[in-house]
Amino acid sequence: MLSGFATCPGLFYATPAADGILSRIRIPGGIISSQQCRAIADIADQHGGGYVDVTNRANLQVREIRAGINAEVLKHLQDIGLGSRNPVVDHIRNVMTSPTAGIDPQELIDTRPFVQGWDDYIAGHPALSGLSAKFSVCFDGGGIIRVCDRLNDILFAAVLVDGNVYFCLYLSVGAKGQPPSDMGILLSPEKCLPVLAALADVYLAHSNTTSKRRLRLLELLNTLGCENYLQEVEQRLPFSFLSSDLTPRPPSLLGKGEEFSPLLAGEGLGERSNAKYQHIGIHAQRQQGLFYIGVVLPLGRLESNQIRGLADLAAKYGSGTLRLTPWQNLLITDIPQQWVADIQSEIAFLGLDSSATNIKSALVACSGKKGCAASATDTKNDALALAQYLETRVPLDCPVNIHFSGCEKSCAQHSKSDITLLGVNIEADNGTVEGYHVYVGDSNQKFGLELYQYVTFAELPALIERMLYVYKIHRLNSDESFGEFANRYAIRTGKEKSTG
Ligand code: SF4
Repeated sequence: MLSGFATCPGLFYATPAADGILSRIRIPGGIISSQQCRAIADIADQHGGGYVDVTNRANLQVREIRAGINAEVLKHLQDIGLGSRNPVVDHIRNVMTSPTAGIDPQELIDTRPFVQGWDDYIAGHPALSGLSAKFSVCFDGGGIIRVCDRLNDILFAAVLVDGNVYFCLYLSVGAKGQPPSDMGILLSPEKCLPVLAALADVYLAHSNTTSKRRLRLLELLNTLGCENYLQEVEQRLPFSFLSSDLTPRPPSLLGKGEEFSPLLAGEGLGERSNAKYQHIGIHAQRQQGLFYIGVVLPLGRLESNQIRGLADLAAKYGSGTLRLTPWQNLLITDIPQQWVADIQSEIAFLGLDSSATNIKSALVACSGKKGCAASATDTKNDALALAQYLETRVPLDCPVNIHFSGCEKSCAQHSKSDITLLGVNIEADNGTVEGYHVYVGDSNQKFGLELYQYVTFAELPALIERMLYVYKIHRLNSDESFGEFANRYAIRTGKEKSTG
């Protein structure tokens, strides 16, 4: 295995974690075959803890690896299309797209060729090993299942203008942790990859690629300024993208009093929290007569027998294709209508569920104490215990996103949750106990509106149960998400604070 980027794992860059070595396998666009799933299940059994985790970039992680994976096994994985063809770029972040790309009935454009194109470009250009491992790219095709609110350095978001499909260019600038900003640039689809290559080239020209700590693109953009950066990008292109009849200039280039083009005034990047989980359950594809089924993976985890089982179902009933989602769930695609009921019962037989109202469908937890030294609490076990408590007590009719974070870094959740639980240590008479601060909604504060502080884990389940009851009784209707309700209700009634 290679070394040198220990903080950013890849298949060829195993990284030590509290529970053993961690290996992360890039799955561009989250699209994976049954054969690849079986190979990863074997790795998890033979080298790791017998399970895999789907990450919030739709990668797969094998944890608890005690001894390095040997070169022969790595070669086999490469031969079946896993990991980069070129190990020197295998640490660069997974390319993200909607998990329903190509099958979404409402998408404007199938983004799979862009994902594949950029992944091939990275593999074919070893100089890109100088990019920050966090150099992250996303293509959103404008369908029902959108990924534009995910944190990415560069986002291409499809829009329809005068009946033609273009991509809006968004870049991550300003404060960390904010969704990327609209640059006011419309690109015809064939221009996206050349622009992306030029964006990467300008990054390389301005960074010290031998330094262990690579600059984030955001840092470089903040230092150089978007205007300068984009002008350097344009100098590398055989076409102009900063000025055309169609393309408004970036906000930073607008003169005083000039207005931004209404062309781009359409949809913002935000989305309702319920919309994030619309992929769970059974849905018609754009291909007539075919369906996909979204499966809930509790905290993104699959035991190796479950991965093999799902891989077999995808091969038996579908096209042998599975899609991992950035919400750490999974889709099986291309199922003819007559097999839908069968596959659902076989998924249940594997101990998994495909209902969006399952409390686990929108449960998110960071690695927690077992995987991360910074964590104050055992987030994953606490999340599962809470879900188990709530499952039979508060039947849901829409997803409620509950996010457990072991510290303020909030690695696991890239957009606002309905309920955020931030791990803390609480001083008690007989020592320290673990607990959480409770935040709700999506106010401007980082985690939302702080509702309770220092709630011990023993008190937490009953508290969340009461909060969900209040939501179900007082929400406007079942379309009002918990976060929307919390913004409206908590603010209207005045913020209540408690020490538990
Ligand atoms: S949020 Fe904090 S505790 Fe959780 S994995 Fe990230 S750094 Fe570790």
